Amino acid sequence: MASTPNQADRNRQRKSPRPKHVPQRTCISCRQKGDKRGLIRIVRTPEHLVEIDPTGKRNGRGAYLCHQERCWDRALSGTMLGKALNTELPDDTRQELKTFAATLGDDAEARIAENS
Ligand SMILES: [Zn+2]
Repeated sequence: MASTPNQADRNRQRKSPRPKHVPQRTCISCRQKGDKRGLIRIVRTPEHLVEIDPTGKRNGRGAYLCHQERCWDRALSGTMLGKALNTELPDDTRQELKTFAATLGDDAEARIAENS
């Protein structure tokens, strides 16, 4: 009777409130899951423009790609990204995204691992 089970339960509840919900996103290319910060959002705006959305908060249909250049190459070389966004990907947009992807590099994964 040193400590009542009820008291212990209450303490446990106070210590761990509802677990914070971290939305999981999936890279459309490699299907790797991550939270929002681990993936880059691409948004199709209501005006049917396709843009990178660094804030992850813009209106429109979104697709996610991880930080690996090869995933972007794969998504951009075919119809993968267009399908995910349910739109046609204009050539200039495709080119813009490829330019962006080239800044990522394939060693990004290692850098992310170091920082976490
Ligand atoms: Zn990926």
